Formats: sequence, structure tokens, C-alpha cells
Amino acid sequence: LKERVRRTERMEAFGQLAGGVAHDFNNVLTIVRSYAQMIQDKTPQGDERTELLSKILAATDRGARLTRQLLVFSPDTSSERSCIKLNEVVAALDALFQSVIEEDIDLNVDLASDLHPIDADLSQMEQIILNLVINARDAMPDGGALTVRTRNIHVGAEDRIGPERLPSGDYVVLEVEDSGEGMRQKLVDRIFEPFFTTKSSGTGLGLSTVYGIVRGHGGIIDVDSAPSRGTRFTAFLPASCPEPSSQWEPDGPPSTTQ
Ligand code: ADP
Repeated sequence: LKERVRRTERMEAFGQLAGGVAHDFNNVLTIVRSYAQMIQDKTPQGDERTELLSKILAATDRGARLTRQLLVFSPDTSSERSCIKLNEVVAALDALFQSVIEEDIDLNVDLASDLHPIDADLSQMEQIILNLVINARDAMPDGGALTVRTRNIHVGAEDRIGPERLPSGDYVVLEVEDSGEGMRQKLVDRIFEPFFTTKSSGTGLGLSTVYGIVRGHGGIIDVDSAPSRGTRFTAFLPASCPEPSSQWEPDGPPSTTQ
């Protein structure tokens, strides 16, 4: 039994590390693929460029399959913390949302005007937002409403978030809500497990990565879901920032490129 527990722990650590890499690559490939698809859709039939575009599409599919097998080569994904304004991270991802979300999905971005800064890793924040948004999209194959929301919350000593307790203090809340297929409780119980997926081409690593990142930042993530009504993921991130936020450029976040 001890060995099995150790194996499970190793598996979780491995899954979370590898998940970062595989998912990042899959997200990039999704963008390349959707732009190539858009160009192909606009290219008249019989045009010789159609064949070249098909090759790009086939290559991105092959790349997506490869990243799933590349999981053994997980580099050190140590996190680089700085004082971050989550609203700016969400705003910078807007163009990306447009490219991964279908037209029949109504996207709402609702950002609190006085959001606390957080001490966080920028690319990990991008990753959790993108993973949650892509999952929400996948849950709405026939369209629906997707909301990305931020707000401040003060957690008191007696407050409970889902089944858990957080140290009292100020938190920033990130919510991603969809009106999609939703989940039964039995499914909800398993979604944060590495490699758990119900999708034919899923990796099952998105939410375990999100979970690991939120935990790594001293926060928790809660999920509220009901079949055919939709799902809401709520991440609570501590609003503590050692650096003065005045160090920031007044008109924009630091580089969002990697
Ligand atoms: P993947 O997306 O590769 O399947 P994840 O770890 O991101 O891996 O998600 C695990 C599973 O959780 C999904 O296969 C799906 O069944 C479920 N899930 C995640 N997000 C949602 C959502 N917004 N609505 C419904 N089901 C979801």
C-alpha cells in the first residue's frame, strides 16, 4: 500500500510538471491551427495554397499528438513571482480568447475596477485563465455564455470556501463561468486528477495544472457545477504583494511574451 501511495504521489508530481509543458504547447498549437483554418476557409477552392495549408493543419495535429507523448521530458517549471495586476493579464489575453472561442459563444469579461495586485507568476496566471476558458469552450459545443470575472474578497476567520478554510485576509477572485453541459458530482470529484479526461483528444492535465498553480500561490480553487446548467470555477489568490505596485508602468502589464 505504501508503495502505491508513493507511486500516486510521484504520478501527481509528474503530471503537474509535465502538464505545464504539454498544455502550453497544445494551447499554442490550437492558435496556430485556428489561424491556418481561418486562412484555409478564406482560400478559394482549387487554389494551390489549399494544399500547403492542409499540410500546416496536419502538422499541428501531429504536434498536438507529440506533445502528449513528450510528457517524460518535463523541464524545471520553477515559478517567477512578481507583483501582478490580474485584470491586465486577462485583458492581454482577449485577442487569444477570440481566436479559440467559436462565434456562437457569447464572451463577457467583467473586471473589478479596484482589484488588489497579487504576488504571482505571470505565465502561470495566463495558463490557468486559458485552461479554464478552453475547458468552458469545450463544454459548449452548441454555443452559450462564457464569463471571465475578477473581484476582491475579504475572507474572515470563520469563513469557509467550499469544504476548505483559507487563512483570513484579502483575496483576489478569478471566476470562469460557462452555460455548458455541466457535470454530475461523481465527475466533479475526479476532475483535478492528473490524466483524468472525458474528451476523446483530452490530456486530462489542464485542471490538475490549474489546481497545482493555484495551490502553489497559496490559494484554493472551488467548482460549482450542475448538469445542463453549466459550471463555475472560482480561484482565490492571496492579495499580498511585497513589491510596491508603483514600480509598474502606468499603461500596461509587463511583457506577456515568454
Ligand atoms: P482535458 O480538458 O484534457 O479533458 P482537464 O483536466 O482540463 O483535461 O479536464 C478534465 C475533465 O473535466 C474534462 O475532460 C471534462 O470532463 C471536465 N471539465 C473540465 N472543465 C469543464 C467545464 N467547464 N464544464 C464541464 N466539464 C468540464
